[in-house]
Amino acid sequence: MTETHPTPPSMRLIEDVSHAFGVAHKLADFYATTATLLVSPQHFGYSRAFLLTYDHKTGQYHGRLALGAQSEKDHQRFRDQQGKGNVSGPPHTGMLLDTAMLLQRDAIGFHLNEQFQHLHLPADQLPADHLVTLIAQSARARLYQPSDALMAGISHIFELPLIAGTLHTRQGLHTLVIADRLYEDEPLNPQALIPFQWLMNHAQIALQNVELVEELTRTTEQMQEVDRIKNNFLNIVSHELRTPLTSIIGFTHLLKDGQAGPVTEPQRDLLERVSNHSLHLQNMVNDILEIAEVGSGGIVNVTLQKVDPLDTLWQVIPRVDSRKSTREVTIEPVVDGPIPNIQADPVALERIYYHLLDNAIKFIPHAGSVKVHFAHDATHMRITVADDGIGISPDKVKRIFDHFYQVDYRLERVYGGMGIGLTIVKLLLDATGGTLHIQSTPNEGSEFTVCYPLAK
Ligand code: ADP
Repeated sequence: MTETHPTPPSMRLIEDVSHAFGVAHKLADFYATTATLLVSPQHFGYSRAFLLTYDHKTGQYHGRLALGAQSEKDHQRFRDQQGKGNVSGPPHTGMLLDTAMLLQRDAIGFHLNEQFQHLHLPADQLPADHLVTLIAQSARARLYQPSDALMAGISHIFELPLIAGTLHTRQGLHTLVIADRLYEDEPLNPQALIPFQWLMNHAQIALQNVELVEELTRTTEQMQEVDRIKNNFLNIVSHELRTPLTSIIGFTHLLKDGQAGPVTEPQRDLLERVSNHSLHLQNMVNDILEIAEVGSGGIVNVTLQKVDPLDTLWQVIPRVDSRKSTREVTIEPVVDGPIPNIQADPVALERIYYHLLDNAIKFIPHAGSVKVHFAHDATHMRITVADDGIGISPDKVKRIFDHFYQVDYRLERVYGGMGIGLTIVKLLLDATGGTLHIQSTPNEGSEFTVCYPLAK
């Protein structure tokens, strides 16, 4: 009795219970842990334990889990099972759950659990002195004697006397925990109420944690689903936009080149603008598609090779020219001696330049200059795109790489854009072995420094 029924909780019991609940993250594990601690001879030493849950939606009690062991034989089996692990250490949940499984496979445990899981009791039909009503209404664990309670509908399952307590969560009553026998037919002892209530207190905290973890997991899964739908949507839209855009760009070229008849100078000028804007739109659509593909598990395709970074810059500069609009902005490479080749992907580098220059121009309100500095040591090249535009405040800098993030997100914002340029830059750098560093001061300007290894 002293060994199977510790009062007050021993150090070992405290450690074991904390440990077992600490690793039960799912509701099913929590039920199995609670019931197994109750029926484990080295812990609470009851030979039968029941968890009856209350469903607030249906207003019914449901038999959730019953574990039953009998007499010395099961007692010995528990010892053997628990002895398989580290005898002096805490039982890990796996071990407790193995024991629970063993009991459920066992004929007595199996039938008990089967029978118990069919138990459904509508709370509003139970009389005030019904055992279940009494347990549910008692704030603390109690010992119930045969004369205490009505057993209508449950007399084939529980035996009186029994010991019982309740577990609550934020919704209110959650589970009734009941144990009605000890090993070797010892009488239930009122002294056992203290450790039993102690277990209820522990179990209640564990249950509330399990609920929070499950809620969090559900929310995360929902968010992942929303993200998946969003990526899917972006994927479809971008694909659909690409086809007509390719036609627009192609036909504009034909018109501009005079292949559909003579074109006047003003007409050519207008067609040139249509072409520039369409190309810009095509870039945006490609960027969205890339983000959507990477978001749904795709990879950025790159091929690393020797690249001349200055040459690539000269190819990109004319493409961002149309972005200046009415602004008076100069773009100027700052070169100090010969520039070695870097190890990069040429197309990725063009796109990185494009986005950094596009931003640098865009965030200069009226007039200013964009300088591209090249500096290298024995192993790396640092390319800095520096503007004298509006700058970024320090608290916003860490967010500018998030998809669709813009420091100024208002609809009436002045600067336009979709908030994905820097996300693309980061993706491309990650895929090609480059890094990015930012230095920015509000109202003075920004410097975006890309660092690449030199080609061998
Ligand atoms: P977009 O430029 O299309 O809005 P980006 O991902 O390229 O998207 O940039 C995200 C945000 O970072 C911008 O909306 C802007 O607030 C800020 N930003 C980026 N580059 C600069 C810059 N050179 N100067 C000031 N702010 C910048």
